[in-house]
Amino acid sequence: MSIQVFGIPVSRGIAIGRAVLVASSRVDVAHYFVADDQVDHEIGRLREARDIVARELEELKRELPPEAPHELAALLDVHVMLLHDESLTGATKVWIRERHYNAEWALSAQLEVLARQFDEMDDLYLRERKADVEQVVERLLRELAGTEGRAPGAGSSVQGARDFAGEDPLVLVANDVAPADMIQFKRSVFTGFITDVGGRTSHTAIVARSMDIPAVVGAREASRLIRQDDWLVVDGDAGVVIVNPSPIVLEEYRFRQRQSELERARLNRLRYTPAVTLDGQPVELLANIELPGDAAGALEAGAVGVGLFRSEFLFMNRGGDLPDEDEQFEAYRDAVLALKGLPVTIRTVDVGADKPLERMSQQELRHEHALNPALGLRAIRWSLAEPGMFRQQLRAILRSSAHGKVRSLIPMVAQMGEVKMIFDAIARAKQQLDVAGKPYGRVEVGAMIEVPAAALLASRFPKYFDFVSIGTNDLIQYTLAIDRADQAVEHLYDPWHPAVLQLIQQTIAAAGAAGRNVCVCGEMAGDTAFTEFLLAMGLRSFSMHPARIASIKQRVLRADTRQLRAQVLQVLESDHPQEDWRKLCGPTAQATKSLGS
Ligand code: PEP
Ligand code: MG
Repeated sequence: MSIQVFGIPVSRGIAIGRAVLVASSRVDVAHYFVADDQVDHEIGRLREARDIVARELEELKRELPPEAPHELAALLDVHVMLLHDESLTGATKVWIRERHYNAEWALSAQLEVLARQFDEMDDLYLRERKADVEQVVERLLRELAGTEGRAPGAGSSVQGARDFAGEDPLVLVANDVAPADMIQFKRSVFTGFITDVGGRTSHTAIVARSMDIPAVVGAREASRLIRQDDWLVVDGDAGVVIVNPSPIVLEEYRFRQRQSELERARLNRLRYTPAVTLDGQPVELLANIELPGDAAGALEAGAVGVGLFRSEFLFMNRGGDLPDEDEQFEAYRDAVLALKGLPVTIRTVDVGADKPLERMSQQELRHEHALNPALGLRAIRWSLAEPGMFRQQLRAILRSSAHGKVRSLIPMVAQMGEVKMIFDAIARAKQQLDVAGKPYGRVEVGAMIEVPAAALLASRFPKYFDFVSIGTNDLIQYTLAIDRADQAVEHLYDPWHPAVLQLIQQTIAAAGAAGRNVCVCGEMAGDTAFTEFLLAMGLRSFSMHPARIASIKQRVLRADTRQLRAQVLQVLESDHPQEDWRKLCGPTAQATKSLGS
């Protein structure tokens, strides 16, 4: 039977493929594809883990004190039996052999299948046996964690993955996927993503968008309603998922998929056309990247530089170990070299909130432990709390400037006291490099304007910083007191809110008056609903996912900022800016679905 599931559209386009369900409690087990010649090794890991766990259980049983209840020994017998049951380990091997999932992933996928079967049993006693299977899988996963898997590094491409993952495209379905896990799926075989939770500008959504893969988040019941291997249509424009579509519906979506591919190809022809408005205003279209491997794609998409390199993704998926200065330097240098002389803006780590570090979990700073993670030790606050680590990153950034044009960007500056500490740290990092005889060039320092306090003080920032970059994702979150990752308040997350627009306008005006460059690097920059509005507010620098550059460029080429200026001033005074902008600018403003609509 075909059903529809509704959620929040976060990454455009249509994806059609088979469901791969990942249990949320197991999203943080490694998920990667193994190459052809690794399949036997992976099956060997599974076998070895099974044998070890079986031995442990036998031993436990032998060591049971005589007074232990009889049921306990029987339970251990059941667990050993399950371990050897074809429906668990046998079927898991099939996932490894046919889909090339690593052992942990294959095991989670099979658990998902079995859990469903147990849930559907009428007999309560049998239904409760699900917990036994879960316990056995938990033991196996723990055992596997201690053995050597061969995961490709974060961001590395899984060569040939499409071939060995079988004919059918795959769509990932999960209750939630942390940004750290999501980044592992970059350049993987998934053609779409669906999660039960999440907001439009959560970092998970941002990473999905950066992959340019259709995605729907906040789809509430999706992971419960969808089963492994179901056929799915993900409509990333409308935020709809169609489960097991009828042939007619499928054909309709295949048609739409072809249409949007043609549209993309048409837009791509604009790649190398300079972005200049009708009234002759040159506009800088930059790329947001997460990993150095994204830099080449940014250039190909026609970016004239990187406006935001979210360096924190280098710090994730490392089991608590952090990249040292040389490793960071190499990553930054690779991005700089890939940009062939165009500027690369490296943001210092923005960890915390929905991007916790594994290391933080040890310090009880993880999302679930912190009282209010978005308001806690995040971004520059974390860097200043770890001065040694901060200087290490600054040294790595500075060193990369010996290979090209580098700017550094500081996230979440809110206090004037922080400004002094930032520049002291930079001075000290330079001094350390001088002593070590390591070369570096001139690196401009910019501040992200993403808390209202910073926007209100934007006129004071030019005294200290070379440029500013408006992080609208957080600026909206903090101005409106809306957790950007929480779908319960998603409807209140409004980029068109008059207060948000005023803060953006104020920042652009203050930077302009001081002759400082101002960029918008939040999701608004890549949303065509805002292009003319931002241009008319005076913005000339936009940084976005590379895949959005062509669409934004098309809007820039058709815009006349002189004509739009009066309307913008009027809309800034309005209590209902979105509606008024639509009325004043008609189809242009209505053409696309905005972040806030
Ligand atoms: C922002 O807040 O708008 C931004 C660009 O930073 P991030 O999305 O990484 O928080
Ligand atoms: Mg931010």
